Amino acid sequence: MKNLLDGIEDVLLMGPGPSSVYPDVYKALSRSTLGYLDSYFIRIMDQIKALLQKLMRTQNELTLAVSGTGMAGMETCLVNLLEPKDAILILINGVFGTRMREIATRLGAEVDVLEFEWGTPVQPDAVEKRLKEKGYKLVAMVHAETSTGVRNPAAEIGKLLKASDSLYLLDAVTSLGGIEVDVDGWGVDALYSGSQKCLSCPPGLSPVTFSQNAVKAIAARKSKTPSFYLDIDLIGKYWGGEKRAYHHTAPMNMFYGLYQALLLVMEEGIDKVFARHLKVHETLVQGLEKLGLELLVDEPFRLPMLNAVKIPEGVDDAAGRSALRSKHTIEIGAGLGPLAGKIWRIGVMGHTAREKNVERLLAALGDVL
Ligand SMILES: *Cc1c(COP(=O)(O)O)cnc(C)c1O
Repeated sequence: MKNLLDGIEDVLLMGPGPSSVYPDVYKALSRSTLGYLDSYFIRIMDQIKALLQKLMRTQNELTLAVSGTGMAGMETCLVNLLEPKDAILILINGVFGTRMREIATRLGAEVDVLEFEWGTPVQPDAVEKRLKEKGYKLVAMVHAETSTGVRNPAAEIGKLLKASDSLYLLDAVTSLGGIEVDVDGWGVDALYSGSQKCLSCPPGLSPVTFSQNAVKAIAARKSKTPSFYLDIDLIGKYWGGEKRAYHHTAPMNMFYGLYQALLLVMEEGIDKVFARHLKVHETLVQGLEKLGLELLVDEPFRLPMLNAVKIPEGVDDAAGRSALRSKHTIEIGAGLGPLAGKIWRIGVMGHTAREKNVERLLAALGDVL
């Protein structure tokens, strides 16, 4: 029987994630599987925690990787921090903000939202005004809104929240490893990310961190966290403490991959990795403009790693993307929600963020258009 795996092409992944995986990460994934309480494996877990603390810029003890993709991280934060009737304010300017609203609503929280036009950033003034009117247990925002390519003002919102009793939840799925994330400096209380965006692993793990205040709020819950699998207290007891306790079997080979990816980031240097993302983004934007293409987001609010470009008049969305994929072996992303059919999303995340990849994409786009 024919093995379909033999037909997998080496696609250049330039969409909203997954990004192209580092060759060293593929090697790491194929190392021998160890037992989930094997002492050597636990040493690797300890290192993952230390490397994540460094990349996230936090001293938080409760820093680890949840088994599951970025959505598992989002759900872990909300399911542990919210109880029925708890007040949460969600700042929405794209798809991932609406996802937080969906999960918080399912948890029976009292959900308020402030919405901002998609393609524009969250405005701290509006948030400040709302915080004066009402107190919230939790305020949540997406740092890098992958559906639009907007960078939200994470530091400014943090500053506002330091003056309040609210906990601060930040989605860093697309930002971590591509732009600065400063958990302790910004006063972030809970943060989640994903392995397949700027960390360039396959999808499957979601790094998370919880501050002391978040841990206290979880300990003060009146009801048990409604998800057993995502109960951060139980997961934390497997990741730390004197006696590691079985909760679920860690996907150890994915841990190897994440560990290797974090080592690669540290070897290159965190600041150099950020500078590389920025430089490649600038090359991309110049090239897109030369092709007569226009970006959705105004310059000061653009993310380096996710570029939303308006699909030109008369060009078919799906046909364009499919020609890139079939003729040039490059994947880019479609628009989501109200932006479907209107934009393409071009990712330069992690290992994908290389000048040669941008040149290849620009040549291919020139051909397809
Ligand atoms: C990709 C993404 C998610 C969801 O991650 P999955 O890995 O698809 O589960 C959440 N938030 C943002 C900002 C993302 O880009």
